[in-house]
Amino acid sequence: MVIPSKTDVVVIGGGPAGLAAALAARQNGFEVCVLDRAEPPIDKACGEGLMPDGIAALRELGVAFDIGQGRPFRGIRFIDDHRLAQACFPAEAGIGVRRTVLHQILVDRAQAMGVVTGWRATVTGLDPDGVALADSSVRCRWIIGADGALSQVRQWAGLAPLDNGRRRVGLRQHFRVKPWSDFVEVHWAKGCQAYVTPVGPDEICIALLDTAQKLGFADLATRFPGLSRHLEGAEPIGVVRGGLSASRRLRHVTRGRIALVGDASSSIDAITGDGLTLAFRQATALGAALAKDDLASYDVAHRRICRMPFLMAQLLLLMDQREGLRKVALQALAARPDSFSRLLATHVGARHPAAAALDVLALSLRAAASAARPRNAAIAR
Ligand SMILES: Cc1cc2nc3c(=O)[nH]c(=O)nc-3n(C[C@H](O)[C@H](O)[C@H](O)COP(=O)(O)OP(=O)(O)OC[C@H]3O[C@@H](n4cnc5c(N)ncnc54)[C@H](O)[C@@H]3O)c2cc1C
Repeated sequence: MVIPSKTDVVVIGGGPAGLAAALAARQNGFEVCVLDRAEPPIDKACGEGLMPDGIAALRELGVAFDIGQGRPFRGIRFIDDHRLAQACFPAEAGIGVRRTVLHQILVDRAQAMGVVTGWRATVTGLDPDGVALADSSVRCRWIIGADGALSQVRQWAGLAPLDNGRRRVGLRQHFRVKPWSDFVEVHWAKGCQAYVTPVGPDEICIALLDTAQKLGFADLATRFPGLSRHLEGAEPIGVVRGGLSASRRLRHVTRGRIALVGDASSSIDAITGDGLTLAFRQATALGAALAKDDLASYDVAHRRICRMPFLMAQLLLLMDQREGLRKVALQALAARPDSFSRLLATHVGARHPAAAALDVLALSLRAAASAARPRNAAIAR
């Protein structure tokens, strides 16, 4: 496709966030050009689980999944050596979908909607009228930076992150095996997690998350013996992919006519399984702001969209860092499945965040009681 010399909106980065933002802008009547240095379908290290509110946000953009493009999951299950806690989504299921399949679905929809796409097109900078490529430029009214966690657009726009947050390493590998569960399973071990997403009738995706950066798939049997038993005889498919999982927030995600979306605008630890959902929700909010010619309203909407998931990420990262806390929290979640379900409903936007406070309180009391129990027993002896 020929890259135009002039358009309304240029989106830098044609990953999930960029394509969703392009669809949202197009839905609001703008001419849009997406530029990406790679070629579709673009693969990436990802747990490949899409939450129900992410599916709903995509539906608003006219993107739907056919049977066979992924595998539904009905909730989240936390597992460690001794405990299992699980909760179902309140209504719609989530979907496990291979990253390349998701990307192709988004590319097809963008093309059907008349979004102009330029692949193998690296943006080298911004200029006063638009964006610059190696040997050409595109003039535009709006610039959307969707160039991922290490965003250069963010840097060019002078939108520094509040902090660089905690960084962990993520590895992803697919296995040919019939999914043994219709939950996304998060297996917890000291300082690391393995989470399992069913992505097809005979295929699962495992993402390993680790702070020490030493974990590999060869360590599954020693670090996650319960999980590795399910993988006996399972054939690994394709290559292992790695990526950084960071929690990073910005004070502002817009400047002048530039707006950031997806990981460029904020990235959340992969343990939440929320990165894609945030990107799709931000994209619809950005489309509405462009239509109003009011990017400041996107800044406000972006803060609102990120608030609850970032809080959840902090709680989950605390469980990662403090083994004792993780044990009592899993025990409390297992003992109070109703509270776990309501928290999950809040996490996927089906309940008001304020309503979660009572559940957090109930779980904290339960956790405190179980933490105190051995001490009291010792005193009694
Ligand atoms: C290990 C791991 C597991 C995860 N698991 C999940 C999960 O289960 N569920 C979930 O929802 N999220 C998950 N995430 C998060 C999710 O993968 C990200 O939030 C998502 O990829 C963000 O998409 P994006 O479009 O913002 O960025 P990216 O996917 O990184 O896309 C950015 C694009 O910009 C392009 N680009 C960059 N610079 C330029 C340039 N100068 N010119 C042109 N193009 C450029 C790149 O080629 C790329 O295609 C996980 C992340 C990790 C690391």
